[in-house]
Amino acid sequence: MAHGLAQKESGDPLMPKSDDNRRTFLYTEKRGYEVTRNPHLNKGMAFSLEERLQLGIHGLLPPCFITQDVQLLRVLKNYEMKKDDLDRYVFLMGLQDRSEKLFYRVVLSDVERFMPIIYTPTVGLACQQYGVIFRRPRGLFITIHDRGHIASILQNWPENYVKAVCVTDGERILGLGDLGCNGMGIPVGKLALYTACGGVPPQQCLPVLLDVGTDNEALLQDPLYIGLRHRRVRGQAYDDLLDEFMKAVSDRYGMNCLIQFEDFANVNAFRLLNKYRNMYCTFNDDIQGTAAVAVAGLLAALRITRSKMSDHTIVFQGAGEAAMGIAELISMAMVKEGLAKEDSLRRIWMVDSKGLVVKGRDHLTHEKERFAHEHPQMKTLEDVVRELKPTALIGVAAVAGAFSEQIIRDMASFNNHPIIFALSNPTSKAECTAEQCYTFTEGRAIFASGSPFNPVTLPDGRMLYPGQGNNAYIFPGVGLGVTACAIRHINEDVFLTAAEALADLVTEKDLLEGRLYPPLSDIREVSLVLAVKIIEYAYEHNMATLFPEPSDKEAYVRSLIFTTDYDDFTAESYRWPEESMKIQSCKL
Ligand code: NAD
Repeated sequence: MAHGLAQKESGDPLMPKSDDNRRTFLYTEKRGYEVTRNPHLNKGMAFSLEERLQLGIHGLLPPCFITQDVQLLRVLKNYEMKKDDLDRYVFLMGLQDRSEKLFYRVVLSDVERFMPIIYTPTVGLACQQYGVIFRRPRGLFITIHDRGHIASILQNWPENYVKAVCVTDGERILGLGDLGCNGMGIPVGKLALYTACGGVPPQQCLPVLLDVGTDNEALLQDPLYIGLRHRRVRGQAYDDLLDEFMKAVSDRYGMNCLIQFEDFANVNAFRLLNKYRNMYCTFNDDIQGTAAVAVAGLLAALRITRSKMSDHTIVFQGAGEAAMGIAELISMAMVKEGLAKEDSLRRIWMVDSKGLVVKGRDHLTHEKERFAHEHPQMKTLEDVVRELKPTALIGVAAVAGAFSEQIIRDMASFNNHPIIFALSNPTSKAECTAEQCYTFTEGRAIFASGSPFNPVTLPDGRMLYPGQGNNAYIFPGVGLGVTACAIRHINEDVFLTAAEALADLVTEKDLLEGRLYPPLSDIREVSLVLAVKIIEYAYEHNMATLFPEPSDKEAYVRSLIFTTDYDDFTAESYRWPEESMKIQSCKL
């Protein structure tokens, strides 16, 4: 299969439309069932008569011709009949397996509605039930026993041109712990967002699950579990697997192939990021993507507090991947404002499961040492907040309800606009709800969460829209930008650039309504802006390896973006006869 003519007319490729004036001609050698059963090619009853004849599928479809708009209507009607979110997830995954373009058309028809189904929080539930809902494999499964021949497994993947890989070993799925091979739902979901939000064509995306076993006893006993039935293999064998995997991906898909790490346990996440960041084109979304989205929220918040980042004292509840990533980027933002590095670190404090992270305390990892300050030990977050009087409190410990009424009220007593981010996922793990935060601060808090919360109406009638610090604001745009200009190594500046670009997109009106992020419905435009900023940054700093440098970067990025419009399989554009349009309108 090869792409033929360029699209016939330009127009905004970001807007999903079904009118046929933007169709591209696509040549395929596949015929018959091979076409209708192939999700990349399948258009269902939207195949024209001429296409049906040419592709040998005449008679394999009902005689009616319908447009993508009508197909969308049918999907939505079916969707409404599903009884819960897991059913909705299964239904949408089934659609993705049957007709990719229609799947993305559906998702883009209402991103705010569908994102929580194909991604957090529902994807967490789906991973927990993966063995039950399993229908068709998606992505590549590589196990610890495949060491020595990973390259040949990669050869089994049917696509020759992959630009983005998302990989997990399933050990820390969201806030849900070790889900082993069932964690595949995460790279599948993330890459669906690469396409839906970033416009990266789906065939250029490869989800990978590295199965090294699981320490989840319930899964090991579950007859429906889809992974290896032994405990996690760790140590040298694990490291060898990772080394071989990274090399095999780069050998097959090039040094510019982006490898996104997702939901690895804390201890491996930092280690592997440090090991590979200067060798391959890679980043860890839990550390760096989270950092960028949280810092974007803080940068937007600074416009409300009318202050600089370096004016703030920030306390983290949690000192893991998310906390470290956010803290590092906050420190970078402070240094950019002119503060010395050491002084920036002194403005950031962390509380972990043992209490305040202070110098000389036990259980300090290398990462925590950077944020350990001279201070007496303190056990509870309440005491820490009272003592340090932070201006911002960020929850990333997956301890539900950790921001008690007392803590929130204390924050409101020493700050005009306390910044309170309850970022733990899923919703059940959030440190506080949006309503609690706004209520206990008389609507003065600047709030963001990891999972979505409904708008809150205050007693004075004001309606506040909680910001959702969703990583989807960042990683699709970063992925699009990095792959578009072939960056070899992704440094932290890329994430600060993304955070600043995202914060700049927040309008004054958004801020007045409590929003710290642009509406999710604008996500494609957001990703495009981020990608263009990253490309500009990359050329300025000699990080891009694509030459010649595109003169109009925005036009260049737009030209790469996946469209949900169906391709045209006939050499000459076929216009539907008036007659078939009538048939269409009397159906459904
Ligand atoms: P992690 O396992 O790396 O870190 C968890 C941290 O919490 C550890 O430092 C641990 O010591 C600490 N902790 C555990 N119990 C505690 C307690 N009782 N008091 C204080 N600290 C305690 O996990 P992570 O990757 O940092 O993720 C943490 C949470 O953040 C998850 O719920 C995850 O879903 C969420 N998260 C949200 C976003 C987002 O909103 N965009 C992004 C990434 C992660």
